[in-house]
Amino acid sequence: MRFFGLCPQNDDVTNLSPLTTHHSLLIIKAKKFLIYNISMILITGGAGYIGSHCVYELLKHNNDVIVFDNLSTGHKEIIDELKKYRDFKFVLGDLKNKNDIDELFKNYDIDSVIHFAGLSIVSESVKNPKIYYENNVLGSLNLFNSMIENNVKKIVFSSTCAIYGDPDYLPIDENHQKKPINPYGKTKLTVENILDDYDYSYGLKSVRLRYFNACGASTEINIGEWHNNETHLIPNILKSALTNKNTLNIFGTDYPTKDGTCIRDYVNIEDLINAHIKALDYLGKYNSTNVFNIGTGLGNSVKEIISECEKIHAQKIKYNISPKRDGDPAVLTANNNKAKDILKWVPDKMIKDTILSAYNWEKYLLLRSIKECNKT
Ligand code: UDP
Repeated sequence: MRFFGLCPQNDDVTNLSPLTTHHSLLIIKAKKFLIYNISMILITGGAGYIGSHCVYELLKHNNDVIVFDNLSTGHKEIIDELKKYRDFKFVLGDLKNKNDIDELFKNYDIDSVIHFAGLSIVSESVKNPKIYYENNVLGSLNLFNSMIENNVKKIVFSSTCAIYGDPDYLPIDENHQKKPINPYGKTKLTVENILDDYDYSYGLKSVRLRYFNACGASTEINIGEWHNNETHLIPNILKSALTNKNTLNIFGTDYPTKDGTCIRDYVNIEDLINAHIKALDYLGKYNSTNVFNIGTGLGNSVKEIISECEKIHAQKIKYNISPKRDGDPAVLTANNNKAKDILKWVPDKMIKDTILSAYNWEKYLLLRSIKECNKT
């Protein structure tokens, strides 16, 4: 029987991993558990922001992973960075081509899947819903069909708080009504509905994690948030600060909040990934479908986040006031009691530490792009 378990370890394994990074020389202490599933975990979208941090965590705990990514928004450099830590199989392929996925299941003994691959920019989904339905819905459907054809019946799926739409009450729990207000949220809700039907009819068991605002970067290796057209708040603040270009816009200052700017629930990437490990463990132990909000339960306004960034940058950060973005609710915060109770998931990173990790990553990206420019 294959089994995921958080296995207590007696010896304190010390993995000497010297990295010449902005973090200088690091000695990484493995946490006191291993996931002792021996067969392979397929990670779709493992070259992207959240997927790559998950790959790292699984490698760190000696799991066998195979990464599948079309590199449309992910980066080969991230795969190379992960491979410096430990080698693994990377397959370049597209979920929209079912043959690509069928080949995977034919060639590898895959036991379970963590499905990150998908598009996730709200404004882009409004401009071009076609690519969202193709990538997020068709791509997921191909994956699930291939899974059931190959008798692979466990999946952790990246969902989002965008499926709830404008909140009726706060903090939002998992039973809140689902009325997404943009194509991105609609595609994720559609996939959740497919997963319910596929569980009922084919026994495909899923844990859906509804992320709030993922942020921060690994504190151990050189991976982080890296979008070609960045839209997210924390990277935008830090890019503007580090380049001194005054490119930061606050979208709306007359929301009904304490300082007029939107409030979001910013969840640290390492905490977020920890929820995936616990979700895999849950699937292994209970073989049962479930859904969890993954947020801290706390909220920070845009201006509070800017002020935290200023403390780390040790300088004032300039900004422009711009009109509200379409479809931005004033406040989104998670009720995470269910994840705490059932998964025993406890987010424990402080926002200042999360921002510091993002700051170090942005400095690394900036230096990297300067070096690239100098080469040409
Ligand atoms: N935001 C902003 N300036 C930016 C990016 C975002 O004022 O450059 C605001 C945005 O309106 C929202 C919050 O910051 O209220 C978080 O936005 P983000 O795009 O990071 O995540 P979202 O909540 O849209 O998933």
